[in-house]
Amino acid sequence: MKQSLLTILRDKKTSTVDFRNAAHRMTHILAVESFTHIKEKKTSVITPLQKKVKGSITAQPIVLLPILRSGLAFLPVFLTYFQDAAVGFMGLKRDEDTAIAEEYYRNIPKIRSNSMVIILDPMIATGGSAVDTIAALKKTGVKEKHMLFVALIAANKGVIRIKKAYPGMALVIGVEDAKLNKDKFIIPGLGDFGDRYFKTV
Ligand code: URA
Repeated sequence: MKQSLLTILRDKKTSTVDFRNAAHRMTHILAVESFTHIKEKKTSVITPLQKKVKGSITAQPIVLLPILRSGLAFLPVFLTYFQDAAVGFMGLKRDEDTAIAEEYYRNIPKIRSNSMVIILDPMIATGGSAVDTIAALKKTGVKEKHMLFVALIAANKGVIRIKKAYPGMALVIGVEDAKLNKDKFIIPGLGDFGDRYFKTV
């Protein structure tokens, strides 16, 4: 499933409609995988047959933090799983010459000491935007173990950079690709995710 969706996303001939559909379906997989990093507490319920069964419920308040603009593509699907989540935004624009991200917007909601902040960004290239976002959250007092980074494709280099800077960070990644080109695009990757998803090419 993951592989076939990824193939659709990588194919340069894929239409906008098919690209969006595949991106949404892939996001469902990533959202479900994210649950393995969220604390649960035990509970029990009585079934219609009066049988008591043990179960569990999510025990952490969730904050979703898409990195603008590509992270917005993950938001609708994540909201179907984390329906009560607070939503914040981090606006980072990559300078196409230097590939360095510059912050132009930040709106971070109240984060409780037991919250889990799920950072959403489909593509991790150099890891610069990820490291900057994690640093900004840490400055507000959020611990690494209370953050989860979700991406569709990550370059090995970017993952290594994040792990080196923040060893306690959990990552949910669809696939890791081997290389970056000279413009810091992921190879093979899928091109510019935002341009393809938002049809701005
Ligand atoms: N962002 C993208 O959309 N694609 C890349 O390859 C790298 C960063």
